[in-house]
Amino acid sequence: MHTAINAFKIGAANCYSSILAGVKYRKFLWNSPEYHITKGADIVVLKNAFVEGEKRDIYLKGEGEIDCSGLYAYPCFVDTHMHILALGTKLLTHDLEKEDLKELLQKEKELLFARGWTQMPSLELINSVSYPVVLIRHCGHLAVINDAAKEKLGFKDNVIKEEDITKLYTFFDKQFYKRALKVAERELFKLGVTYVHSDDLAGKTYEDLVDILKDAKVRIYEKLAVKSLGEPRPEMFGQLTDRVYIGALKLYLDGSLGARTAYMEKPYLDTGERGELLHTKEELIKYLEFGKKHGVEVCIHVIGDGAFNFLAPILKDYPGNRIIHAQFASEENLKLLKHTSFSVQPHFYYEDQELFKYIQTDAMFYPFKYMHEHGYKVWFSSDAPVSPHDPRYVIESALKMGVTKEEALKLYTVGSKDWCLYEKDDPLENLPVLIAMDGGEVIETANL
Ligand SMILES: [Zn+2]
Repeated sequence: MHTAINAFKIGAANCYSSILAGVKYRKFLWNSPEYHITKGADIVVLKNAFVEGEKRDIYLKGEGEIDCSGLYAYPCFVDTHMHILALGTKLLTHDLEKEDLKELLQKEKELLFARGWTQMPSLELINSVSYPVVLIRHCGHLAVINDAAKEKLGFKDNVIKEEDITKLYTFFDKQFYKRALKVAERELFKLGVTYVHSDDLAGKTYEDLVDILKDAKVRIYEKLAVKSLGEPRPEMFGQLTDRVYIGALKLYLDGSLGARTAYMEKPYLDTGERGELLHTKEELIKYLEFGKKHGVEVCIHVIGDGAFNFLAPILKDYPGNRIIHAQFASEENLKLLKHTSFSVQPHFYYEDQELFKYIQTDAMFYPFKYMHEHGYKVWFSSDAPVSPHDPRYVIESALKMGVTKEEALKLYTVGSKDWCLYEKDDPLENLPVLIAMDGGEVIETANL
């Protein structure tokens, strides 16, 4: 029997005295230095403190009280690699995985900005309209634009790759991105994601990005992409608000498999090329030294085995940094990276199946289970809007790979300070009804 949640007014005065009484039970929790909770223990969330130990039947009466009897508390999800503003942009614009290009071309009048194709759209078709059309590939590393967009942005080519993609995002202004943030965070809260590690500078100035992010309600650990930032300065990093911390530099060492730009040891079977490395060793060291000196994490996008093999011997001398993706890893080079963390996407293994026929490699494929079992620091993430931002989608793939549910939940909630409350004792089978943010704010997800 579940008791309904009593209405609760969130006001500044009682924000910190919110009480979640009677939370029954949860099965899986992670351990962290802050909250060391042993497996099998029950918790009670009370006055912003987590009481560990035996199941208690605490029901406190008073102002700001919420009866959570019968609900199950789990840490909220932490998405350790995504692009929250691009997610919002996708939600506010068009999704080619769901919408038909021909219909969109008839509907739009001033600009068609859409994402999600895997089959290159016809240039003839998009040149049939006189307004700018920007179509970004599913992976975000390749785009096709029509002649009107080409002219407006000063490009010579209709096919845009890698670094030039960021310019496509200049079609939108700051107000648009502020809306994008709100739309995205609402979706994330509904799914129980309260913390994202995000990479959003593309197409914006640093100042604009700061102005956009400062309104965030969702927790954001922001990574500043060097390709948009230029030279980093130490004062660009640090705590922005209670919820937003600018903590990392993001480098793209190579591209994607879909665009054949991920840097491989052996050529792709269709293009005959190996993809490309986007930074030299000297550049990498320059940024890693900057990070070391100023306490800034360096997060490096690495997909191809060539990029991984190139980076590992360099990164081994710089502990505490991060590789994003790591889809192909040689056992030997992986051994160098005991002090590196990895933001990985298990679902890519299933999404990328079609692409495997174009690559030749001796490296381990998407070895995330292996890495986790061998003591590497692995965290799960969606890479939204490349893939769906629902943790359940990602975890489904992790389970297929043989990761246990308990481990999968752990790897998707590491570092969470917030609590999601569910009606069913399984975060994969239902969405939270309530979120208790560390610091006292309570979000009723039905009201979002
Ligand atoms: Zn990404």
